[in-house]
Amino acid sequence: MALKIAIAGLGITGAYLFRLLRKEGLTPDVYDVTHETVCGIHSCGWGTSLGFKELVKMADLDADDYIISRFDHIRFDDVRLRAEFYTIDKPRFVKALSESAEPKLTPLDPSRYERVIDATGVARAYLPPIQNDLLMNCIQYRVKSDGSNEIVVKIGGIGYAWYFPLGNLTHVGFGSLKEDPGIRVEGKTLAGWDIDQPVCSCRGVVRVSAPSASRPFVMDGPPQVIGVGEAVGCVSPLVGDGIVPGLRSIRILLDNWDDPEGYTEKLLREFSWLDKERKVVEKMAESRPLSILDSRVLLENSRRRMGIRMGVLDVFRMARMYK
Ligand SMILES: Cc1cc2nc3c(=O)[nH]c(=O)nc-3n(C[C@H](O)[C@H](O)[C@H](O)COP(=O)(O)OP(=O)(O)OC[C@H]3O[C@@H](n4cnc5c(N)ncnc54)[C@H](O)[C@@H]3O)c2cc1C
Repeated sequence: MALKIAIAGLGITGAYLFRLLRKEGLTPDVYDVTHETVCGIHSCGWGTSLGFKELVKMADLDADDYIISRFDHIRFDDVRLRAEFYTIDKPRFVKALSESAEPKLTPLDPSRYERVIDATGVARAYLPPIQNDLLMNCIQYRVKSDGSNEIVVKIGGIGYAWYFPLGNLTHVGFGSLKEDPGIRVEGKTLAGWDIDQPVCSCRGVVRVSAPSASRPFVMDGPPQVIGVGEAVGCVSPLVGDGIVPGLRSIRILLDNWDDPEGYTEKLLREFSWLDKERKVVEKMAESRPLSILDSRVLLENSRRRMGIRMGVLDVFRMARMYK
């Protein structure tokens, strides 16, 4: 394992890898760029779900220290579905993961390294561009809580709006595959929620291409470049959650550290459910009718991702709302 390694990108996946490599006694160099967000990380709603706690434990941290609120259901417009969901203090979590890292804010010189990990998220700065990239544009505000403590998702505009409570504050956002998300801001409201006097606001982009469309994951060197997290499409095409899939990609990389082909193969196998989801999302975006098989993909994926239990009718109702 004694390679000269650089991690490009100290977001959640780069920071997780940094911590796990340090546990193995390695000292990778880390690179990042300055953030324009007030919270100091890439735009994110800070919502997460199944698998998060176990992945955090593997980094010798306790997820409970970072969970702000827990939820046992999500409301999609007027459909209320049982689910397991948390909001977390993501900036504090990323900080804990990257404790002792001294990120360089200068461009990385690839000739200095044998292996570069591309953890640059949507920037995918060290791997070739993706031919058929699918990106969702988002806008988000952090506002004072209106007292409601419920996760709410409003589907529409080939995307959806979210309300994620964070204790005294709340993230209110909107992401769309088609329109400028700013179009949903009307006066001092976004999708009907009050965004007057926000603590902060940001715009961001989520790669919803899914992994198989985000190849190659590895580029031969020198230096060898290996992509992880959102750089290689480890994000759900339907809901844009990239925290758990990104952390999982790191586990897969570490299990295949000396086997780049094995890494590609395992990543594709682990996330084949996201590839199926992308196909359904494309159909929804083109307003094509969903088949029973498509609805089964959405049912199974929602259960796998957030423990959501819904019926076939709920799926068709939600697909109709998407337009
Ligand atoms: C508005 C919005 C809301 C979201 N909400 C959620 C949510 O609630 N739950 C969820 O699970 N997911 C959410 N996501 C997706 C999630 O934020 C990402 O998928 C996840 O953070 C990806 O992790 P990452 O480490 O791969 O990339 P990032 O978190 O994006 O980190 C990439 C890092 O690379 C750095 N970087 C970029 N370019 C370079 C470069 N050239 N050199 C060095 N460093 C570079 C960046 O500064 C950043 O620190 C949301 C995304 C958006 C945009």
